[in-house]
Amino acid sequence: MGDDLGARHASTLNEVLLPPGKQPPVAVVLETSAAASPAWQAATWLLCELVSRGLGHASKLTIFTGDTTAVIALPGVAVGEALGPALVARSAAIGGVPAVLPDTAPLDAITVRVGPGRSAAELEVIADNWAGGVRTPGAAPHLGLDEPTLLIGSLIGACHAAAALFRQARLSEPGHSSVWHDGWALQLSNLTDATPTAGPNRAVLALDDLVLAGMGAVGNAFALTALTHPGAMGTLRGADYDHIDLTNLNRCLLFVRDHLGQLKADVANAVTRDLGQPHAALLVTPDRAERAFRESSGPTLVSVVDTNRAREAINQLVPRTALAGSTFNLRVQTNTFGQPGPCLRCGNPPEPVEPDRDVKARVLAAKADELEDLAAQAGQTAGELLTWASTPGCGELDATVLPALRHEGPATFSVGFVSALSGVLLAATAIRAQHQPLGAPMIARAQLLRPGERLQGPQPSAADPGCPACGPRGALPETWRRIWGERPQ
Ligand SMILES: [Zn+2]
Repeated sequence: MGDDLGARHASTLNEVLLPPGKQPPVAVVLETSAAASPAWQAATWLLCELVSRGLGHASKLTIFTGDTTAVIALPGVAVGEALGPALVARSAAIGGVPAVLPDTAPLDAITVRVGPGRSAAELEVIADNWAGGVRTPGAAPHLGLDEPTLLIGSLIGACHAAAALFRQARLSEPGHSSVWHDGWALQLSNLTDATPTAGPNRAVLALDDLVLAGMGAVGNAFALTALTHPGAMGTLRGADYDHIDLTNLNRCLLFVRDHLGQLKADVANAVTRDLGQPHAALLVTPDRAERAFRESSGPTLVSVVDTNRAREAINQLVPRTALAGSTFNLRVQTNTFGQPGPCLRCGNPPEPVEPDRDVKARVLAAKADELEDLAAQAGQTAGELLTWASTPGCGELDATVLPALRHEGPATFSVGFVSALSGVLLAATAIRAQHQPLGAPMIARAQLLRPGERLQGPQPSAADPGCPACGPRGALPETWRRIWGERPQ
């Protein structure tokens, strides 16, 4: 398959990273001692998924699971199926880094062991119920459980293992790999400072109380984590009007090549039908979230949209509580909001939009071959497009043609483990919010470039005094009090 799947993580970020090229083979090992655990199976699935989508920093994936049978349904894996062959087939469906079952293990492979075991490995994925990470074998033996009952910690561990593999390929001096990331406390630590999580070992998640705005990469990981959470029940409602394209495949855990061109909403609904807990379901509407949830926004809005313009739009839904996950380069950020602020609009000025007349001027100035391309983008014939562009304010077509032709900003850097980690941490935060008051609004950042060097955790977050939504002249606080203020907490 082509290198295009790695295009979104090929940038050197202004020479912070080495260009793609050093691509060691990777071996992922799930030993018998961990093989019957849903948490370790899910972590193995996620790590194989992230390596498969990591074209440019791994050359080949060898999957050691012995004769393990799947005990949890995951994308591409059904309960009762042989796990190893299912993971290899899944990797082929993604069409990135090729995966094989062990025949002759490549001698120069970097080996990652998932969960407890005795085999030699460069890295171990470790986890308890809410925290996970990677360590070099033998380090920090007090961390991690043999059999976590929740999946959050092991999914976090898989993301950090993929991050460590990325750093080995893309940094000239990768430094220490070992980290521990607590999804309950949102604290990222090196192993010296790490402590087991304080989160409970059981936690119900009422999916009916959430609405999810966006089904991109962070939304995919959020939905997967929420639906597979052992305490999940109800229906998670989501909204996304976008289609799946090739640039999504390096990081969207629910989508593979066969889904290209289809609506994210339709595919997400279809592939999660038999996934996760028996009483948990996903229902994504192919529409903008501010329209889909206008009548019933629900108490908690989970924002995983990726533009400030979209954040501004869903801010108008005025949920009781809002949570947000976002990514930038190799950083993840988790936000909780409060009343009267901060809100989703605080410090997030909407991106400029190319004016309508500029789009039409581009069409009218296009040469014949460019015009054909634009027409294909807009789903019109060249003649129809020219007629549209030369007619002022042609209402009906404007709604479909303008969004299709408008210049978007330059494609930003993105890589799978960052988006996946953001979604898992956000799901952990959504579960925690149903168990204890989240307290003052906060922002928790974590960077995966040198994660062991700087401790990273939650910090208080304040409203932007100039915010047009929740600031002194904004309507948001009064609307919020009218809707939620009189009701018991
Ligand atoms: Zn605000």
